[in-house]
Amino acid sequence: MAKLVGRLNPSQRILMGPGPSNCHPRVLRAMSTPLIGHLDPDFLQIMDETRSMLRGLFRTKNEFTIAVSGTGSAGMETCFVNLIEPGDRVVIGINGVFGERMTDVAARCGAKVVRVESEWGKIIEPDQIKKALARGKTKVVALVHAETSTGAATPIEEISKIAHSKGALLLVDTVTSLGGMPVDIDKWKVDACYSGTQKCLSCPPGLAPVTFSEKAMKLVRKRKRKVQSWYLDMSMVERYWGQERFYHHTAPISMIYALREALCVIHEEGLKARFARHMRNHRALVAGLEAMGLKLFAQEGHRLPMLNTVEIPEGVEDVPVRKALLKDHNIEIGGGLGKFKGKLWRIGLMGHSSTLNNVVLCLGALEKQLKAQKCRVASGAGVAAALATG
Ligand SMILES: *Cc1c(COP(=O)(O)O)cnc(C)c1O
Repeated sequence: MAKLVGRLNPSQRILMGPGPSNCHPRVLRAMSTPLIGHLDPDFLQIMDETRSMLRGLFRTKNEFTIAVSGTGSAGMETCFVNLIEPGDRVVIGINGVFGERMTDVAARCGAKVVRVESEWGKIIEPDQIKKALARGKTKVVALVHAETSTGAATPIEEISKIAHSKGALLLVDTVTSLGGMPVDIDKWKVDACYSGTQKCLSCPPGLAPVTFSEKAMKLVRKRKRKVQSWYLDMSMVERYWGQERFYHHTAPISMIYALREALCVIHEEGLKARFARHMRNHRALVAGLEAMGLKLFAQEGHRLPMLNTVEIPEGVEDVPVRKALLKDHNIEIGGGLGKFKGKLWRIGLMGHSSTLNNVVLCLGALEKQLKAQKCRVASGAGVAAALATG
């Protein structure tokens, strides 16, 4: 029979964009573990171990901590469809693409969406939320912890106090932050939180870790109407992940293997050491970029360690630089979104991709490509400044 396509052999890339990040090799190996049945007692144990390590990562005692079958956006949808009933007032912080996506998801659930907006690159200020809450009885306040489209980290704890003082639940997106910077669900009193596997967990995309407080689960169980999504109805999924093993849908077994292994890698490194590594490499990258005369975009003091937004210098074209980084150096970085298309680069240092070697390689390659565009950069300044931070 004639061959239809060639052997599967994509280029080996250094993933320094907004996700996915490079997988840890142990995670890739775990994915080739032979399948067992999803109701096999061995698999139940694997799911239990995964949940318990997830609780450690989220820093929560929440019984309801699982991985939804789907990417980060499925996690977002899970939180909204389960907590919201038509007519509920939801206050959403919007300072980038993912806050905007939340408003779309919430509106589809029939929520009355109240938009609290900050300029892109800036954080959502507690006062803004306070004002929105004063204007009406609110069921949920929703925030993006780490806005991947802009590189800004909104502090959660203070807004949490404000939300709870008004009787609202707090829903937080930690897709980009989880595993790369502190996320403290119980201390911050977050009621519903979702994440994704392909950013700082360094797994392939495909699962969305979620955790619900007991208060949030009570609300789900006593809803007036059924959750409109059968697949994402957590009152049913809860029975599948629990001891009852009530069949709901077939868990993506290889992805659970991957997540379990990724969580082992994370816990072996230790959260403190892992967050410190992300911060160290972020500082090295920033020092290098600034030494090259480039400007960081996100609000100072609130910059994400795993996602760095850089302003593209005047006269430099976005696409040719990114194309050359990919073609000549196998490095992927991200472009700007929305109105920042062509204006920003987004350089990720997530999970297994967060290394000083990657920082140095990226700075060196960027210098070469900037020079190719007639941009004046002091030779070697970026790499030297990055290495000097170590
Ligand atoms: C990537 C991302 C998402 C969406 O996740 P997908 O896996 O692409 O569905 C949601 N929120 C934030 C902050 C993200 O960075």
